[in-house]
Amino acid sequence: MIDSCEGCGGNATLQCPTCKKLGLPASHFCNQACFKTNWSNHKLKHKQKAVIEAITNGSAALYPGYSYTGTLRPYPRAPRRTDLPAHIGRPDYSEDGKPISEIESRGIGQIRVLNQEEIQGMRLAGRLGREVLDVAAKMVRPGVTCQEIDDAVFEACVARECYPSPLNYRGFPKSCCTSVNEVICHGIPDTRPLKDGDILNIDITVYKNGFHGDLNETFLVGKVDETGRKLVEASYESLRRAIEQVKPGAKYRDIGGVIQKYINSCGFSVVRSYCGHGINQLFHTAPSVPHYSKNKAIGIMKPGHCFTIEPMINEGVWRDHLWPDDWTAVTADGKRSSQFEHTLLVTDTGVEILTARQEMGGQPHFMDNL
Ligand SMILES: [Zn+2]
Ligand SMILES: [Zn+2]
Repeated sequence: MIDSCEGCGGNATLQCPTCKKLGLPASHFCNQACFKTNWSNHKLKHKQKAVIEAITNGSAALYPGYSYTGTLRPYPRAPRRTDLPAHIGRPDYSEDGKPISEIESRGIGQIRVLNQEEIQGMRLAGRLGREVLDVAAKMVRPGVTCQEIDDAVFEACVARECYPSPLNYRGFPKSCCTSVNEVICHGIPDTRPLKDGDILNIDITVYKNGFHGDLNETFLVGKVDETGRKLVEASYESLRRAIEQVKPGAKYRDIGGVIQKYINSCGFSVVRSYCGHGINQLFHTAPSVPHYSKNKAIGIMKPGHCFTIEPMINEGVWRDHLWPDDWTAVTADGKRSSQFEHTLLVTDTGVEILTARQEMGGQPHFMDNL
């Protein structure tokens, strides 16, 4: 096949060397004269690429050489925000990215029983986290970028005098995680416009008066195909069933069996590399709550325990890969993944969902328009 000249449409004999060097799609020209004539117009393509690279903030623009499992690609990112007002209380990692208190507590492995005052702190963090997720939910539609959603999340946290917990947690560059299609979790908000038919998970954690509240939901962007809708529904239903198990005396290791059994019956698979977690004054702490069956999780639920359940459910295989940004977890086969998460409190008789939605009977947003 003969390529056509970008300038005149004739048969091309040469290729722009600059495009080649920058890794842009090949641009062809019929001859040097035509290349010269069209140069002023054509060179804009190079400039665009330079601008994109300048704002990618160091993270090699498109990770040349990495073989992606699916069709999603990283887009340029705006720099990390450093304009959080000084009066907002910060967790210990906000400056250097190191969650020292979390690391120190790791060896102990004990599940904290919170007192009444601490429980009130968790209730407030959970309620405010929910409000922030509801703000983000209103923005989801084709054409919006996750960068825009992240900015809205940042502003919604500031308005509630909360610190957005993901910001600089182990160096994470943004205020929330946005995970599109084959991204399982920890997607970094970037400037990719959402497409009609995408599924998008938004994971919010806020830090208020010393406590973290953590939740996420998956959203349907425009019109999603039937398998996608079924996947999102199944992941929500698996969380709902898991929460029904939460009461004093229940074993943390039994949660996964309920999730896996239901998900198997739907023909989907359960991610094994990422688990629910204890949450309180620490973002992530004991217990670890696997979402798959026959796990060896330690611990028995007691009133005053706070933890998350957050099953990640895949359309295809359960295995995950990591992008070279060291955050974005994707499915090994590039098929889609969906997730829902709540922060839960074990009560004397059962469970209190600290991040429950206050409207629509508590149902997740994606059900509003079904
Ligand atoms: Zn979580
Ligand atoms: Zn979360």
